[in-house]
Parts: sequence; structure tokens; C-alpha cells
Amino acid sequence: MSVRTRFAPSPTGFLHIGGARTALFCQLHTRRLGGTFILRIEDTDRERSTQQAVDAILDGLHWLGLDPDEGPFFQSDNTPLYLAAAQRLLEEGKAYRCTCSKESIDALRESQREQQIKPRYDGRCRDRHDQPTDQPYVIRFRTPSEGSTAWEDQIQGTIRFPNDELDDLVLVRSDGSPTYNLAVVVDDHNMGITLVLRGEDHISNTPRQIHLFQALGWPVPEYAHMPLLHGSDGSKLSKRHGAVSVLQYREDGFLPDALNNYLVRLGWSHGEQELFTRQEMQTLFDVRQVGRSAAIFNLSKLLWINGNHIRTATPQQLLPELIYQLAKRGIQQPDPQWLLQVIPEFQTRAKTLVEMADKCLFLFAESVLPYEEKAAQKHFYTANVQSIIALHDGLQQLPEWQAAAIEACFRQVVADLQLEMGQLAQPVRVALTGTASSPGIHETLFLLGRERALRRLQEAVSLLPNNK
Ligand code: GLU
Repeated sequence: MSVRTRFAPSPTGFLHIGGARTALFCQLHTRRLGGTFILRIEDTDRERSTQQAVDAILDGLHWLGLDPDEGPFFQSDNTPLYLAAAQRLLEEGKAYRCTCSKESIDALRESQREQQIKPRYDGRCRDRHDQPTDQPYVIRFRTPSEGSTAWEDQIQGTIRFPNDELDDLVLVRSDGSPTYNLAVVVDDHNMGITLVLRGEDHISNTPRQIHLFQALGWPVPEYAHMPLLHGSDGSKLSKRHGAVSVLQYREDGFLPDALNNYLVRLGWSHGEQELFTRQEMQTLFDVRQVGRSAAIFNLSKLLWINGNHIRTATPQQLLPELIYQLAKRGIQQPDPQWLLQVIPEFQTRAKTLVEMADKCLFLFAESVLPYEEKAAQKHFYTANVQSIIALHDGLQQLPEWQAAAIEACFRQVVADLQLEMGQLAQPVRVALTGTASSPGIHETLFLLGRERALRRLQEAVSLLPNNK
């Protein structure tokens, strides 16, 4: 039997980082076993579902490289299938019509609360022989009242629920709309899902879903319930702890594979290894090795992983994300070939693409004035103006703007004027970048291009106090 998993988000907001982890685990599970990863949008709650949220989920998954092999499917397209299943259960006596009004159910709950017993439907319509259809009704499932329901959860181990803890579940509301548990079971069956992998907040739904599979005579899939993500204070991960929307991580300069690497390690491990390529995750991940304890979200670890991925990525891999960040800074359509030469100079200097974009912004500026005050005080005003003029003139005469020639010219000026390297490099760095830190000075000159580099040196000469 081929392995099939599904990620089944409700489109009521952005793609949450916890949801992305579920999607990743679902995809990884199928990759190692040669299966199929399906995306199902659970939009039965029409009031809360929005197209904007659907788009945010699709965009987030796409950015992470988690596009489904099949789908997206929409539950709102399947309503007749859910209703047909409910109808069958009704005909087979496994479900019944319940005409209890909202008021009578509320009153029942209230009295149960007063008696300090768990509020639940008491089954008063269960054994009625008349099944009136001339008044509003819901369809309820006849939940087994004895015995227990158990499954071997691939993450949590054996889980068992006594059936008498579960009341008769509503399958179809009085407005004719199917409920979550019914829709999920019908879809999981029709889509041939072999493993339901989801957050542990769904554990309490599972015995109900197993009952429905059994009542409909369908094979029960396997289940794996993942521990939820928590913030550093131990509470459920929320906005208070920082960004929870996947696409916010793109804005903040994270690489998709760094985020995947980080997410895969939240709950799963492979020896002591912290850094994983996409390929490694796909061959090594095994859902049965996911731990049971809550995973704690830790931004500094994510930054560390991101920095590592930035260092080891190819410039080509970083290109789209850098272009994205530069566009946000007003740099439109930079030359990609040139950017591929820029990127290696910054890979060891940035933990995020935000940092990288900020650090290389000087390359695009019309002018880097005013210089950073501290940098100018320290390296610039004390500089030997003659050395900068000599460098400018030497560079101007280079037949080609080429890294090795630039370096030779630079060394020549240093030697001719008997300077220390830094005595020329630091003021030149301030002139070129406006700051005291940048990649190597020769590389910086090269990347700026002849025209910009010479203009900035001239600008510096005109500003230096002893230029007259
Ligand atoms: N739609 C549910 C949610 O977003 C998931 C249901 C499931 O995975 O069974 O929480």
C-alpha cells in the first residue's frame, strides 16, 4: 500500500510555524517511503475561512518547498460526500435525528455544571422511535457506550479512551452543514490517507474519528500526534514569543531550508547532528523517532542555523532571497550575475538575509555620505590624503577593472608611500562604504565597479582637511 499523508489547515489566518512543521513532517514521511503528500484546505467554516488565508497558506508552503504532490483540495467542494455518509449511517441505525432545541441543550449543560458533572449530551433522542423530519434536527452519531477505543500512536504510544466518556457527536448541524469530524473521516478515507500526522491538540478527536471509520466499514489509518510548540516560558507558542507566521520569517531574512532544518529538529533528532540539508532530512526523517515532550521555540538557535545555512549555501541558492530583500530596500532588478559575485563576500558576515542586504546596500548607494561619525573620526580625518590620491590615480589607469590588478595597484601605493596596509585600507573603506567594516578592501573596490569606486575616492579627497 502506498504511503499517503495530508496537511489539513483551516484557512482562518496566516500559515503558523507549528502548521509548517506538521506539513514538513508529512512531506518528509512520504519522501523516505516514496509516498504522496496531500494538501487539504478545511474550509467548512465558511464564516471564518478567507481566500486571503488560503493564499497565505499556499505561499508559505511554496516558499518552504512544501508544495503538495496532490491538491490543494477544498472541503467545501465535498459537502455532498459528507452528507451521503451521514445519510448512510442514519439508514443503518448508526446515527439518529436529534430535535433537541439549543435552549434545552443549554439547560441540560447548565444543570450538569451545577451537579459538577462534565457537560455532555445525555442521548435523550437516541432511542426515540419517531424520527421527526418536520422540525429542525441535527444528525448525531450513536457513539458506542461501552468498552474503549485505543490506537497505537506512532509518536505517543498506546492511547486509550473509555467510550462512555464520549457523548453522541453531531455529524450534521441543523442548517444541513457537516461537522469537522465527519468531513475529516470521509476525506481521509476517500484520499486513501495511510498516516494522519497532526498536532496533539487533535488527540481527543481521534477516538471519535475511529468510531466513524468503523461504523462506515472503512480501514482506520495510522495516527501520529506531534507535541505542540511552546515558547521559552513554557506556554503555547503565540505572537508574544515573536513571529509565528511563516512568511514573517522570510521578511526577517531566514532561508527556507534553514527554517525547515530548525523545524525538523523541534521534536526529532538524529544523533548529535544539528545541521541538515534538505536531502539529509528526506532520507533520515522517521516519524517514529519524534519525541513526546513539548518542543521549545528558540530564536537564537534558529539564527545560528540560519547563519550556518547562509555560509554553506551556493550563491545561486541565496540569490532569490537577497533580491527579495533588496527590492524591499528600493533596489529594483539588480544584475544577477554581479550579485552572484557580491554574495560570497558577505556569506560569512551575515546571520540573516536582512543583515546581508543591509551590509551590501552601500554598493548600490549614489553616495555614502555622511560617513558614520565614529568611523570617520577614527580612520578618515587622520588619513594621508596623498595616498588616497595616489590610489585613485593608479586605479584610474588600470586597463581593466579586475580583482588581481586592483590588488596589485593597492599594494604598490602602500609600498611606494611606505604605509602599513591598514593606514590606506581603513580610510579607503570609510570612503567607499561610509563605515569601518566591509569585505576585503580589494574585493570591495572590485564590486563597486570603476566608476563608483573612483567617484567615492574623489569625494573623500575633496572632504579631507589637508587636501588643499
Ligand atoms: N483543520 C484542522 C486544523 O487546522 C486539522 C485537522 C486534522 O489534521 O485532522 O487544526
